Amino acid sequence: MSRRKKVLVIGLDCAAPELVFEQWREELPNFRRVMDNGVWGKLESCIPAITVPAWSAMMSSKDPGTLGFYGFRNRGDHSYERHTLANSQSVKADRIWDILSRAGKKVITIGVPQTYPPRPVNGIQVGCFLSPSTKNYERPYTYPASAMHEIEVVVGEYLVDVPNFRTDDKDYLLRQIYTMTQKRFKLVKKWIVEKEWDLFMFVEMGTDRLHHGMWKYHDPAHYKYEVHPVYNSSIREYYCYIDNEIGQILELIDSDTTVFIVSDHGARKMDGGICVNEWLIREGYLTLKSYPKARTAIDRCEIDWSKTKVWGDGGYYARIFLNIEGREPQGIVKPGEVEALRNELKAKLEAIVGPNGVNIGTTVFKPQEIYRQCDGVPPDLIVYFGDLYWRSVGSVGYDSIYTFENDTSPDDCNHAQYGIVIKNDPDVREGPGGKELTGLQLIDMAPTILQQFHVPVPLDMQGTGF
Ligand SMILES: [Zn+2]
Repeated sequence: MSRRKKVLVIGLDCAAPELVFEQWREELPNFRRVMDNGVWGKLESCIPAITVPAWSAMMSSKDPGTLGFYGFRNRGDHSYERHTLANSQSVKADRIWDILSRAGKKVITIGVPQTYPPRPVNGIQVGCFLSPSTKNYERPYTYPASAMHEIEVVVGEYLVDVPNFRTDDKDYLLRQIYTMTQKRFKLVKKWIVEKEWDLFMFVEMGTDRLHHGMWKYHDPAHYKYEVHPVYNSSIREYYCYIDNEIGQILELIDSDTTVFIVSDHGARKMDGGICVNEWLIREGYLTLKSYPKARTAIDRCEIDWSKTKVWGDGGYYARIFLNIEGREPQGIVKPGEVEALRNELKAKLEAIVGPNGVNIGTTVFKPQEIYRQCDGVPPDLIVYFGDLYWRSVGSVGYDSIYTFENDTSPDDCNHAQYGIVIKNDPDVREGPGGKELTGLQLIDMAPTILQQFHVPVPLDMQGTGF
């Protein structure tokens, strides 16, 4: 009668559907246990398919434009210099733990991106990979602050992320990822049993860090693929390790608990980088006062704004900004010409060919066309070079629009638009192997979780429950 439904959300940043549902399906018995009798499928990320804003889009059921941030780093205003970083303070919308806390449910969240600084919840919130320190009691990374000490007692030094994960030292990377993940699962398993909760959600970043660091050893189609006795199987072994941890967790929960396994986006090999500002210079949209002798970040270049209509930013995708009269301090694009210029850029960017002369399949998005609203300072265009097989490089000084070296540090994987979701509701039995669902999106997650608790779904949520 007074049965109490609970929800456990296992978040695996960047977990890829091709690996979980296809390539290693037979080697991941515990993922399969959750799929069995449940529903599962590819989960379409937001645009851009990046950790920030993706997890917040998932947990608030709102697109990035509505949330008002378009990546981790955003323009703070229409000046050329001011940037802001999107931590939890940038998230004005309710996420499910806010709503469930108000409904009197007990919540525990661990490591969900954009939960630093942590905010008061009816339970515990452990900050995400953005937490600068796990030792500073003046600026606690947990709510309540007393949880910091509790965590230290359980795992010693807790790792919110792998320090210096962009490294060529792959042994170090693997060691650090396992250390971090083991500690997180140790804490999760302890709190699942000992704490009172209705919603328990954690996000493991190890999957993402491993993909970015090891993909060239994993994917024989990668242009940098190398045969290596240990590294070639490192991603598979980590998935098997995670699978084992999930198996242990499944033993700890009761039959009133609905389990989700979810990722915010997928992963794919990176074929190279398109130097977006080099391209803009060549096409006559961007003028520097002097071309740098060495590779230089665009922020450090002297841009001649009186002759610049467009500039861009690097990252897993490109952000394109127009220098608009009356909007930017030295804008030269007349407001009446903005739409024509955006269309011209879109056509030219989508025509970009690779070094072999073949079109790489770039897609350009206008924020106003993909979001319900555009809060904050949106880019004027969002660009997926080569359907994300190519990253965007913002630095200048390459003498080419292509680069096969990263301007920030080693990274062999880009994000892919589809992540995973698996849902196992003990009250619904779909049969052996579960039922594959199609058309699921990030924004469908929050309503789905609220429905588990029979908590009304707010009208401004953009997704639908499944
Ligand atoms: Zn991510």
